[in-house]
Amino acid sequence: MTTTVVGGGAAGFFTAINLKEMCPGMQVSILERGNKPLAKVELSGGGRCNVTNSFAAVGDLSEVYPRGHRLMGRLLRQFSQRDAYAWFEGRGVGLTTQADDCVFPQSQDARSISHLFLREARRLGIDVLTGRRVTSLDELRRTADFVVVTIGGQPRREGLLWLDEPIEEPVPSLFTFSIDDEALHELMGTVVEQAQVMLPGTKLRAAGPLLITHWGVSGPAVLRLSSYGARLLSDCGYRHPLSINWLGMGSAEATQELHRLQATAGQRLMTTARPAALQQRLWQHLLTRALGAGRTHAPWGSLNQKELNRLLNVLTNDTYLISGRAPHRDEFVTCGGVSLTAVNAQTLESKRHPRLYFAGEVLDIDGVTGGFNFQCAWTTAHTVARFIAAHPQNLAHPQPLPKGGEAHPQPLPKGGEIG
Ligand SMILES: Cc1cc2nc3c(=O)[nH]c(=O)nc-3n(C[C@H](O)[C@H](O)[C@H](O)COP(=O)(O)OP(=O)(O)OC[C@H]3O[C@@H](n4cnc5c(N)ncnc54)[C@H](O)[C@@H]3O)c2cc1C
Repeated sequence: MTTTVVGGGAAGFFTAINLKEMCPGMQVSILERGNKPLAKVELSGGGRCNVTNSFAAVGDLSEVYPRGHRLMGRLLRQFSQRDAYAWFEGRGVGLTTQADDCVFPQSQDARSISHLFLREARRLGIDVLTGRRVTSLDELRRTADFVVVTIGGQPRREGLLWLDEPIEEPVPSLFTFSIDDEALHELMGTVVEQAQVMLPGTKLRAAGPLLITHWGVSGPAVLRLSSYGARLLSDCGYRHPLSINWLGMGSAEATQELHRLQATAGQRLMTTARPAALQQRLWQHLLTRALGAGRTHAPWGSLNQKELNRLLNVLTNDTYLISGRAPHRDEFVTCGGVSLTAVNAQTLESKRHPRLYFAGEVLDIDGVTGGFNFQCAWTTAHTVARFIAAHPQNLAHPQPLPKGGEAHPQPLPKGGEIG
């Protein structure tokens, strides 16, 4: 029996290695279009590879998988973040969970993951063929018993048409927001540890650290909101109002904070006594936005109710216009891909084409930052491997077990287009 995996990335290697371990007699090969497999794994997490997440702070999977949370909920029961953790540790890659729940290799080096995959592929005798860009599945489906497509996120619909499956329009996710506001740009480098951001007129909101950049805003809260609003923001050409709550608290709590300052620092100038969460430069900027430059040096005690309301509004609902999408260099993913209605939700087998499977980001599943996208690759790949291994056609042809640990490295043939 043979399985061809199209795409030599995270999901492709994880499928191939698990399948070969489950079915040692099966011939498994990976076709990778580039010269170097696992290129994205090596770039990931700023070169450290955020392998997964402890999920300790995840209340509802829809918070971390804006697309595909129901399917992920079902599949994670079979292969969870704990299984992934044990999988890597069991193969000699020690992992560590940070205070923010993100899991990295102890080596802090993404190559610990890519080298493990390459080593395992060699040990198991998986053929890794580079320079093989696949453009049609017809030939592969004729020659292999099973085909698994793990080509990752494709930026354009055209990149997916050859799969002959229903497609959810691909659009980018995990990006930062451009805001044309020079006064804001001057605050570049300012971090607000607990901000809230939302897209007014929608229910989409996110909380967490926010970073002011020379083009607008970035940081975990913004990336999360870009993920929640990926499709909406694409539809409006990345021009949409953005509301920032700089204090990260509700208006009742924020009002209390302002009253506290009025009571305890009534004689002090507003520029010299500020809410604890805000850095001085940002506070000065917000005071100017709320009260105008002339009033920022007034004492707290002189603030009238109207001014207090304006200040409260700027602190908790400061509105800017997103004028574009800026790249996030550390991580970005594609929202959209092969529709989840096109696959069997248990096996990830195509409903239209039997013995064709999908795993990883090519599916319409994507997560926020924090290791959730790799976990999707591990979980979906493991699912596919398990179901191919259990496929009746496969079980009808029992394969001999190879001798333990024998390596059968294959020479890499020259590249070409397969279609
Ligand atoms: C810079 C960056 C950093 C990231 N860091 C993290 C992180 O730390 N943690 C996290 O969870 N997620 C991270 N992500 C997201 C994560 O990398 C992806 O979600 C994950 O790699 C998806 O795995 P995949 O195997 O589905 O796709 P990919 O890793 O993209 O692999 C797909 C492979 O298929 C090949 N391919 C494509 N088309 C064809 C074709 N027609 N024929 C043959 N081969 C083809 C590609 O060359 C590629 O090697 C990051 C993403 C980026 C861009």
